[in-house]
Amino acid sequence: MKNEMTLSFVAIEENEALARMAMTCFITPLDPTIEEISEFKTIVSEAVTNAIIHGYECDGKSQVTLHAVIDDNKVSMTISDEGAGIFDIEQAMEPMFTTRPFMERSGMGFTIMESFSDRLSVESVIGRGTVVKFEK
Ligand code: ATP
Ligand code: MG
Repeated sequence: MKNEMTLSFVAIEENEALARMAMTCFITPLDPTIEEISEFKTIVSEAVTNAIIHGYECDGKSQVTLHAVIDDNKVSMTISDEGAGIFDIEQAMEPMFTTRPFMERSGMGFTIMESFSDRLSVESVIGRGTVVKFEK
């Protein structure tokens, strides 16, 4: 089957649940296992939380966009923001690296996203924003 969706929402933490649920509904026609559903939810949750918190500092007005495509039982997704951007992508993707230890962040977001997806790529420009792409 083929399907495509785009969901944009402002940067407040509550919208992480919105994105997670939208993604769950979107992949339901593929008849995923409970484990697969949980992995998709986790990927979306980590990436969207990063955009809201790190990209926009929860400013409540800037837009995060989730775009997802189903093509031949493969799902690809992008989560993008036009926020702060990442200074050093390689370093940001290392396990336990966080720029916000004081907010009780563990720095495991990218590591988790990587382990649950078949392919993950990150593009980011300081002051312009971040695009995280997944295939699963
Ligand atoms: P955790 O996800 O475990 O709560 P974390 O968010 O700090 O902690 P990661 O998700 O792995 O850990 O992200 C690592 C770092 O990359 C972040 O601390 C932040 O500096 C940077 N980062 C990630 N996503 C973005 C983004 N969308 N915009 C700006 N910086 C980001
Ligand atoms: Mg994170």
